[in-house]
Amino acid sequence: MRKKILAANWKMNLTHTEAESYFQAFLSEIGHINDVEIVIIPPFIAIPALVSASEKVSFVRIGAQNMHWEKSGAFTGEVSATMLRALYIKYVIVGHSERRTLFGETDEIVNRKVKTALDAGLRPILCVGETLRERDSGQVEEVLRRQLHECLETVMEKDLTEIVVAYEPIWAIGTGRSATPAEAEQAHAFIRSVLAELYGVLAADRVRIQYGGSVKPENAEDLMRQKNIDGALIGGASLDPRSFARIIWRAEAALT
Ligand code: PEP
Repeated sequence: MRKKILAANWKMNLTHTEAESYFQAFLSEIGHINDVEIVIIPPFIAIPALVSASEKVSFVRIGAQNMHWEKSGAFTGEVSATMLRALYIKYVIVGHSERRTLFGETDEIVNRKVKTALDAGLRPILCVGETLRERDSGQVEEVLRRQLHECLETVMEKDLTEIVVAYEPIWAIGTGRSATPAEAEQAHAFIRSVLAELYGVLAADRVRIQYGGSVKPENAEDLMRQKNIDGALIGGASLDPRSFARIIWRAEAALT
């Protein structure tokens, strides 16, 4: 049984004081949650405030949006896995499409980050997904297969369940146009089949695969009801604590 994981990717939004207010508002909305895992992923600068605000809140974890692949050194402006671990961070997003397209991250770089994160005891949320042009030209499977092979190169089977894969079709991110539940399920089942080719069916069955791309309260339940969809990575709709809470409730409703 894979526990669903709902993660809020705030991107470059909210100051550390706004983050604290958000967190209090979110807690009063959400009450107590047991059945799904919740991760809030703010900008680096707000991590310490949220880590301390969430100290006694067992059902929410704080994550990071990025990290460097080296342990330390002359990399101005970067943050290492060790620094994140020192703040008790567990999850880190790697290979988000905005990092790939705006900051030139390749599958090879993403692969290094995945391995550095695992070595440091972090759980990578590995983002994969195709552009609209790739979808329209029938290349979805080819793109996903290539990304998974390259981003997971030399990652060992024992580490596989530490990884959460996020299927994020680029055409659905921030556009308001989500994949349909059927489109998303097809891609998720394919991702699981590639993981099974690489690591075996049993290992692949234990990996959680999130869907990301214009998830909102209105479409969350249908998406979360799909067999191979194990949660969501939510951008825009997670910036409002009430809307994030409503998505979580829809994900819980999908368990029944
Ligand atoms: C994202 O950036 O990971 C994302 C899914 O964004 P949105 O929910 O806004 O489409």
